[in-house]
Amino acid sequence: MEDSKKYILQEKDIPTAWYNIIPSMPNKPRPYLHPGTKQPLKAEDLYPIFSQEASRQELNVTDSWIEIPEEVREMYKIWRPTPLVRARGLEKALDTPAHIYFKNESVSPVGSHKLNSAIPQAYYCKKEGVTNVTTETGAGQWGAALSLAARKFGLELAVYMVKVSYNQKPYRRSIMQTYGAEVIASPSMSTRAGRKIITDHPNYQGSLGTAISEAVELATSTPNCKYALGSVLNHVALHQTVIGLEAEKQMEMAGEYPDIVIGCFGGGSNFSGISFPFLRHKLDGEYDTRFIAAEPASCPKLTRGVFQYDFGDEAGYTPLIPMLTLGHEFTPANIHAGGLRYHGAGAVVSQLMEDKLIEATDIPQLESFESAIMFAKAEGIIPAPESAHAIATAIREAKKAKEAGEQKVILFNLSGHGLIDMSAYDRYLSGDLVNYEVTDADVAESTKNLERII
Ligand SMILES: *Cc1c(COP(=O)(O)O)cnc(C)c1O
Repeated sequence: MEDSKKYILQEKDIPTAWYNIIPSMPNKPRPYLHPGTKQPLKAEDLYPIFSQEASRQELNVTDSWIEIPEEVREMYKIWRPTPLVRARGLEKALDTPAHIYFKNESVSPVGSHKLNSAIPQAYYCKKEGVTNVTTETGAGQWGAALSLAARKFGLELAVYMVKVSYNQKPYRRSIMQTYGAEVIASPSMSTRAGRKIITDHPNYQGSLGTAISEAVELATSTPNCKYALGSVLNHVALHQTVIGLEAEKQMEMAGEYPDIVIGCFGGGSNFSGISFPFLRHKLDGEYDTRFIAAEPASCPKLTRGVFQYDFGDEAGYTPLIPMLTLGHEFTPANIHAGGLRYHGAGAVVSQLMEDKLIEATDIPQLESFESAIMFAKAEGIIPAPESAHAIATAIREAKKAKEAGEQKVILFNLSGHGLIDMSAYDRYLSGDLVNYEVTDADVAESTKNLERII
């Protein structure tokens, strides 16, 4: 048999529907609650914040397949289908009998998977007559993706960017500005939520939670303006299933099926995207695949968080979401995988964790960079610091397979490249980076004010 390096699909193979896992779940996630009344939310309750179609998708628990609009598939063609790659170089470097594959989502124009959801979210806004969109961004990946999507559909975009990243990551800011977005450092004086936190903590460097509060406030107080979120929510995970649906066909081309599927974990969108299409074959009893979410040891919501209703943002504007959470007041250490610094996990992933259908692991910062560099040397691609957590987990599993003498098939998602994160690599290479530990006392403190609803 010829030794293939990568598996390539045609444009006609771009999926025509996204996969919604909720109808197939043995236990459905608990409902979102209205933050004021604490009653289960209806789609209409979300209309002031999101586009109506995104709101309906968010609460859709009945349709397993949701059609991808032709306009969105057209736009996907800019970079999709993405390649599935056999990591032969990495296998060799590890001298492992495991077969390692990765789905390369770093080939999108903005360098990450985030564009898979930015495009449909912008499309639905446009279709519903919305003129302005707003969002938050941490490391700048989501902001960059939405900037391009907004441009493509002729929408004006304002991005609240976490202040520390605004100052430390000028290139991501420039990318957003290149596509024509307005970028505001958060906390800012332009919103009530921003002014309050600046008054209370004048030197606050910002967090995703605060930036979300600012963006949601702008959206709900401005006519014809909607908010778009890049992770955590069901409709975002739904859009990302194009990753796993393509990967499924490509694994078939390779004549294999994964024993282990891995994604790094911030709020859960790329992990869900690579996993859910394969998980459906576990739910129907066909395969006993393991699914591993790789989170940073400094922000361990899946392994150390509490399962409780919590807000998605700092100020408490969002609905209450049933999630594994470190508490919306948790401030993670300033690690370089900025996209993984979020306090909670989406409702579906949290329920799947409760039901032990998926598992999670914590990766220390130094191990993530060590793995990233090994991967870069072996495969040529410099991964995003976020994606390095998935790589580190794949390497751990490949080493275990070697010890056990088992020929496991491992698939991970390469969520993005790291070419705009070279300052982080620079700091790692000069020995400046350290590991951060979260103690039980830290978690007890950051979750102590959560209302106990569950
Ligand atoms: C945003 C981001 C993540 C984390 O977000 P998820 O929603 O958990 O996928 C991971 N990798 C990259 C490259 C990102 O930009």
